[in-house]
Amino acid sequence: RIVYVNGDYLPEEEAKVSVFDRGFLMADGVYEVTSVLGGKLIDFDGHAARLARSLAELDMAQPISHEDLLAAHRELVARNGIEEGLVYLQITRGNPGDRDFVFPDPETTPGTVVMFTQSKPGLAASPAAKTGIKVISIPDQRWARRDIKTVQLLYPSMGKMAALAAGADDAWFVEDGKVTEGTSNNAYIVKDGKIITRERSSDILHGITRAAVLRYAAEAQMEIEERRFTLEEAQAADEAFVTSATAFVMPVVEIDGVKVGAGTPGPVAGRLREIYLEESLKSAI
Ligand code: PLP
Repeated sequence: RIVYVNGDYLPEEEAKVSVFDRGFLMADGVYEVTSVLGGKLIDFDGHAARLARSLAELDMAQPISHEDLLAAHRELVARNGIEEGLVYLQITRGNPGDRDFVFPDPETTPGTVVMFTQSKPGLAASPAAKTGIKVISIPDQRWARRDIKTVQLLYPSMGKMAALAAGADDAWFVEDGKVTEGTSNNAYIVKDGKIITRERSSDILHGITRAAVLRYAAEAQMEIEERRFTLEEAQAADEAFVTSATAFVMPVVEIDGVKVGAGTPGPVAGRLREIYLEESLKSAI
Protein backbone atom coordinates (compact mmCIF):
# COMPACT_ATOMS: atom_id res chain seq x y z
CA ARG A 1 0.00 0.00 0.00
CA ILE A 2 1.17 3.52 -0.80
CA VAL A 3 0.55 6.04 1.98
CA TYR A 4 0.92 9.81 2.24
CA VAL A 5 3.11 11.53 4.84
CA ASN A 6 3.66 15.30 4.70
CA GLY A 7 3.62 15.56 0.92
CA ASP A 8 5.39 12.29 0.14
CA TYR A 9 3.87 9.11 -1.29
CA LEU A 10 5.68 6.13 0.20
CA PRO A 11 5.33 2.37 0.56
CA GLU A 12 3.80 1.90 4.02
CA GLU A 13 6.95 0.20 5.36
CA GLU A 14 8.94 3.36 4.63
CA ALA A 15 6.48 5.85 6.09
CA LYS A 16 7.67 7.30 9.42
CA VAL A 17 6.42 9.71 12.07
CA SER A 18 8.51 10.95 15.03
CA VAL A 19 8.10 9.44 18.52
CA PHE A 20 7.75 13.08 19.68
CA ASP A 21 4.75 13.71 17.45
CA ARG A 22 1.97 15.17 19.61
CA GLY A 23 -0.53 12.89 17.96
CA PHE A 24 1.35 9.91 19.35
CA LEU A 25 2.14 11.38 22.80
CA MET A 26 -1.05 13.35 23.50
CA ALA A 27 -3.72 12.33 20.99
CA ASP A 28 -3.33 15.94 19.83
CA GLY A 29 -4.81 15.53 16.40
CA VAL A 30 -7.92 15.33 14.29
CA TYR A 31 -9.03 13.01 11.53
CA GLU A 32 -11.56 12.38 8.78
CA VAL A 33 -12.74 9.24 7.02
CA THR A 34 -14.10 9.62 3.50
CA SER A 35 -15.64 6.64 1.79
CA VAL A 36 -14.86 5.62 -1.78
CA LEU A 37 -17.48 4.10 -4.08
CA GLY A 38 -16.85 3.37 -7.74
CA GLY A 39 -13.37 4.84 -7.26
CA LYS A 40 -14.87 8.22 -6.28
CA LEU A 41 -14.95 10.20 -3.04
CA ILE A 42 -18.28 10.46 -1.23
CA ASP A 43 -19.13 13.78 0.53
CA PHE A 44 -15.52 15.00 0.25
CA ASP A 45 -16.41 18.69 0.63
CA GLY A 46 -18.35 17.99 3.82
CA HIS A 47 -15.41 16.12 5.33
CA ALA A 48 -12.97 18.85 4.31
CA ALA A 49 -15.21 21.52 5.86
CA ARG A 50 -15.52 19.61 9.14
CA LEU A 51 -11.74 19.07 9.18
CA ALA A 52 -11.22 22.84 8.94
CA ARG A 53 -13.66 23.35 11.82
CA SER A 54 -12.00 20.68 14.02
CA LEU A 55 -8.59 22.30 13.42
CA ALA A 56 -9.91 25.80 14.18
CA GLU A 57 -11.56 24.64 17.42
CA LEU A 58 -8.18 23.29 18.57
CA ASP A 59 -6.18 26.36 17.41
CA MET A 60 -4.33 24.20 14.93
CA ALA A 61 -3.10 25.61 11.65
CA GLN A 62 -4.31 23.83 8.53
CA PRO A 63 -1.05 22.60 6.96
CA ILE A 64 -2.58 21.57 3.64
CA SER A 65 -4.89 23.44 1.26
CA HIS A 66 -8.32 22.15 0.23
CA GLU A 67 -7.06 21.57 -3.34
CA ASP A 68 -3.98 19.65 -2.19
CA LEU A 69 -6.10 17.59 0.19
CA LEU A 70 -8.45 16.59 -2.62
CA ALA A 71 -5.55 15.89 -4.99
CA ALA A 72 -3.85 13.67 -2.38
CA HIS A 73 -7.09 11.75 -1.72
CA ARG A 74 -7.49 11.11 -5.44
CA GLU A 75 -3.84 10.20 -5.89
CA LEU A 76 -4.03 7.60 -3.09
CA VAL A 77 -7.27 6.13 -4.46
CA ALA A 78 -5.64 5.81 -7.90
CA ARG A 79 -2.24 4.51 -6.74
CA ASN A 80 -3.87 1.87 -4.53
CA GLY A 81 -6.56 0.96 -7.04
CA ILE A 82 -9.40 1.54 -4.58
CA GLU A 83 -12.86 0.88 -6.02
CA GLU A 84 -14.71 0.57 -2.71
CA GLY A 85 -13.19 1.51 0.60
CA LEU A 86 -12.06 4.60 2.42
CA VAL A 87 -9.41 7.28 2.74
CA TYR A 88 -8.24 8.01 6.28
CA LEU A 89 -6.74 11.44 6.92
CA GLN A 90 -5.07 12.55 10.14
CA ILE A 91 -3.52 15.87 11.07
CA THR A 92 -1.64 16.19 14.34
CA ARG A 93 0.06 19.19 15.93
CA GLY A 94 3.38 17.84 14.77
CA ASN A 95 6.74 17.15 16.35
CA PRO A 96 8.10 19.90 18.61
CA GLY A 97 11.14 17.73 19.44
CA ASP A 98 10.19 17.23 23.10
CA ARG A 99 7.18 16.39 25.24
CA ASP A 100 5.52 19.54 26.54
CA PHE A 101 1.91 20.49 27.39
CA VAL A 102 2.40 23.91 25.79
CA PHE A 103 1.38 24.04 22.12
CA PRO A 104 4.40 24.55 19.85
CA ASP A 105 4.57 27.52 17.47
CA PRO A 106 3.00 26.37 14.17
CA GLU A 107 5.62 28.46 12.30
CA THR A 108 8.43 26.23 13.55
CA THR A 109 6.39 23.06 14.13
CA PRO A 110 4.13 22.33 11.18
CA GLY A 111 1.38 19.77 11.63
CA THR A 112 1.91 16.17 10.56
CA VAL A 113 -0.38 15.11 7.73
CA VAL A 114 -0.93 11.40 7.14
CA MET A 115 -3.32 9.74 4.70
CA PHE A 116 -3.89 6.12 3.77
CA THR A 117 -6.50 4.00 2.06
CA GLN A 118 -8.33 0.88 3.19
CA SER A 119 -9.84 -1.28 0.48
CA LYS A 120 -13.30 -2.65 1.38
CA PRO A 121 -14.82 -4.53 -1.53
CA GLY A 122 -18.57 -4.93 -1.06
CA LEU A 123 -18.88 -1.88 1.21
CA ALA A 124 -22.10 -0.67 -0.41
CA ALA A 125 -23.63 -4.15 -0.68
CA SER A 126 -22.86 -4.84 3.00
CA PRO A 127 -24.58 -8.02 4.29
CA ALA A 128 -24.99 -6.32 7.69
CA ALA A 129 -27.40 -3.84 6.08
CA LYS A 130 -29.68 -6.77 5.24
CA THR A 131 -29.70 -8.30 8.72
CA GLY A 132 -29.23 -5.14 10.80
CA ILE A 133 -26.91 -4.80 13.79
CA LYS A 134 -27.33 -5.26 17.54
CA VAL A 135 -26.24 -2.58 19.98
CA ILE A 136 -25.72 -2.40 23.72
CA SER A 137 -25.84 0.79 25.78
CA ILE A 138 -22.98 2.14 27.86
CA PRO A 139 -22.50 5.41 29.77
CA ASP A 140 -21.03 8.23 27.69
CA GLN A 141 -17.72 8.80 29.45
CA ARG A 142 -15.98 10.65 26.62
CA TRP A 143 -14.79 14.24 26.97
CA ALA A 144 -17.36 16.97 26.42
CA ARG A 145 -16.21 18.24 22.99
CA ARG A 146 -17.48 15.40 20.83
CA ASP A 147 -18.17 17.87 18.02
CA ILE A 148 -14.41 17.95 17.37
CA LYS A 149 -13.25 14.87 15.50
CA THR A 150 -10.13 14.14 17.56
CA VAL A 151 -8.06 10.96 17.49
CA GLN A 152 -8.88 10.29 21.17
CA LEU A 153 -10.75 7.08 20.42
CA LEU A 154 -9.90 4.91 23.41
CA TYR A 155 -13.32 5.08 25.06
CA PRO A 156 -15.26 4.40 21.84
CA SER A 157 -12.86 1.53 21.21
CA MET A 158 -13.59 0.15 24.70
CA GLY A 159 -17.30 0.50 23.93
CA LYS A 160 -16.91 -1.52 20.76
CA MET A 161 -15.05 -4.23 22.71
CA ALA A 162 -17.80 -4.30 25.37
CA ALA A 163 -20.36 -4.73 22.58
CA LEU A 164 -18.46 -7.63 21.02
CA ALA A 165 -18.01 -9.27 24.44
CA ALA A 166 -21.80 -9.04 24.93
CA GLY A 167 -22.47 -10.69 21.55
CA ALA A 168 -23.54 -7.39 19.96
CA ASP A 169 -22.03 -5.35 17.13
CA ASP A 170 -21.75 -1.86 18.54
CA ALA A 171 -22.55 0.39 21.49
CA TRP A 172 -24.75 3.45 21.94
CA PHE A 173 -23.63 6.02 24.48
CA VAL A 174 -26.15 7.27 27.05
CA GLU A 175 -25.83 10.50 29.02
CA ASP A 176 -28.38 11.97 31.45
CA GLY A 177 -30.79 9.22 30.40
CA LYS A 178 -30.61 10.15 26.71
CA VAL A 179 -28.79 8.50 23.82
CA THR A 180 -25.99 10.70 22.48
CA GLU A 181 -24.65 8.61 19.56
CA GLY A 182 -22.91 5.36 18.64
CA THR A 183 -19.20 4.63 19.09
CA SER A 184 -18.55 5.78 15.52
CA ASN A 185 -21.92 6.81 14.14
CA ASN A 186 -24.99 8.96 14.75
CA ALA A 187 -28.11 7.32 16.21
CA TYR A 188 -31.72 7.53 15.05
CA ILE A 189 -35.11 6.06 15.80
CA VAL A 190 -38.29 6.02 13.73
CA LYS A 191 -41.71 6.31 15.36
CA ASP A 192 -44.97 6.57 13.41
CA GLY A 193 -43.01 7.43 10.28
CA LYS A 194 -41.09 10.24 11.96
CA ILE A 195 -37.27 10.19 11.95
CA ILE A 196 -35.94 11.24 15.35
CA THR A 197 -32.27 12.07 15.98
CA ARG A 198 -30.46 14.10 18.61
CA GLU A 199 -29.95 17.77 17.77
CA ARG A 200 -26.43 19.00 17.00
CA SER A 201 -24.41 20.33 19.94
CA SER A 202 -21.00 19.67 21.47
CA ASP A 203 -22.51 16.39 22.81
CA ILE A 204 -22.18 14.64 19.45
CA LEU A 205 -20.12 14.61 16.28
CA HIS A 206 -21.89 16.50 13.53
CA GLY A 207 -21.94 13.61 11.08
CA ILE A 208 -21.43 14.41 7.43
CA THR A 209 -23.62 11.43 6.58
CA ARG A 210 -26.19 12.70 9.11
CA ALA A 211 -26.40 16.05 7.33
CA ALA A 212 -26.78 14.41 3.92
CA VAL A 213 -29.34 11.83 5.09
CA LEU A 214 -31.48 14.48 6.80
CA ARG A 215 -31.32 16.63 3.65
CA TYR A 216 -32.41 13.73 1.42
CA ALA A 217 -35.14 12.75 3.91
CA ALA A 218 -36.51 16.30 3.90
CA GLU A 219 -36.43 16.36 0.09
CA ALA A 220 -38.41 13.10 0.10
CA GLN A 221 -41.03 14.79 2.35
CA MET A 222 -40.17 12.54 5.28
CA GLU A 223 -40.86 13.95 8.73
CA ILE A 224 -37.82 14.76 10.90
CA GLU A 225 -37.58 15.71 14.56
CA GLU A 226 -34.19 16.73 15.96
CA ARG A 227 -34.39 16.00 19.67
CA ARG A 228 -33.02 13.71 22.35
CA PHE A 229 -34.51 10.30 23.01
CA THR A 230 -34.18 7.75 25.80
CA LEU A 231 -33.07 4.16 25.51
CA GLU A 232 -36.59 2.99 26.47
CA GLU A 233 -38.07 5.12 23.70
CA ALA A 234 -35.58 3.60 21.25
CA GLN A 235 -36.45 0.06 22.38
CA ALA A 236 -40.16 0.84 21.84
CA ALA A 237 -39.60 2.53 18.46
CA ASP A 238 -40.70 1.11 15.09
CA GLU A 239 -37.15 1.24 13.75
CA ALA A 240 -33.66 2.31 14.70
CA PHE A 241 -30.56 2.95 12.63
CA VAL A 242 -27.15 4.61 12.58
CA THR A 243 -25.29 6.63 9.97
CA SER A 244 -21.61 7.13 9.23
CA ALA A 245 -19.30 7.62 6.28
CA THR A 246 -18.50 3.90 6.04
CA ALA A 247 -21.75 2.34 7.35
CA PHE A 248 -23.92 4.77 5.30
CA VAL A 249 -27.36 3.98 6.78
CA MET A 250 -27.25 0.82 8.92
CA PRO A 251 -30.40 -0.63 10.54
CA VAL A 252 -30.29 -1.42 14.29
CA VAL A 253 -32.54 -4.37 15.16
CA GLU A 254 -31.79 -4.93 18.83
CA ILE A 255 -30.94 -2.63 21.76
CA ASP A 256 -29.72 -4.20 25.02
CA GLY A 257 -31.31 -7.51 24.02
CA VAL A 258 -34.71 -5.94 23.20
CA LYS A 259 -35.89 -6.26 19.60
CA VAL A 260 -36.72 -2.98 17.86
CA GLY A 261 -40.01 -3.28 15.97
CA ALA A 262 -40.12 -6.69 14.30
CA GLY A 263 -36.42 -7.22 14.99
CA THR A 264 -35.62 -6.90 11.29
CA PRO A 265 -34.43 -3.89 9.21
CA GLY A 266 -37.28 -1.43 8.75
CA PRO A 267 -38.58 0.26 5.58
CA VAL A 268 -37.51 3.80 6.51
CA ALA A 269 -33.89 2.80 7.14
CA GLY A 270 -33.94 0.72 3.96
CA ARG A 271 -35.27 3.57 1.88
CA LEU A 272 -32.82 6.09 3.37
CA ARG A 273 -29.91 3.75 2.66
CA GLU A 274 -31.02 3.43 -0.95
CA ILE A 275 -31.52 7.18 -1.38
CA TYR A 276 -28.22 8.00 0.30
CA LEU A 277 -26.19 5.58 -1.83
CA GLU A 278 -27.87 6.75 -5.02
CA GLU A 279 -27.66 10.50 -4.34
CA SER A 280 -24.18 10.56 -2.81
CA LEU A 281 -22.82 8.57 -5.76
CA LYS A 282 -24.28 11.17 -8.13
CA SER A 283 -22.31 13.91 -6.41
CA ALA A 284 -19.17 11.82 -5.77
CA ILE A 285 -15.95 13.38 -7.07
N1 PLP B 1 -20.33 10.02 15.64
C1 PLP B 1 -19.10 9.58 15.95
C2 PLP B 1 -18.68 9.52 17.37
C3 PLP B 1 -18.21 9.18 14.92
O1 PLP B 1 -16.99 8.74 15.23
C4 PLP B 1 -18.66 9.24 13.58
C5 PLP B 1 -17.80 8.84 12.45
O2 PLP B 1 -16.71 8.37 12.60
C6 PLP B 1 -19.96 9.69 13.32
C7 PLP B 1 -20.76 10.09 14.37
C8 PLP B 1 -20.50 9.77 11.91
O3 PLP B 1 -19.90 10.83 11.21
P1 PLP B 1 -19.76 10.79 9.62
O4 PLP B 1 -21.14 10.59 9.08
O5 PLP B 1 -19.21 12.12 9.28
O6 PLP B 1 -18.84 9.66 9.30
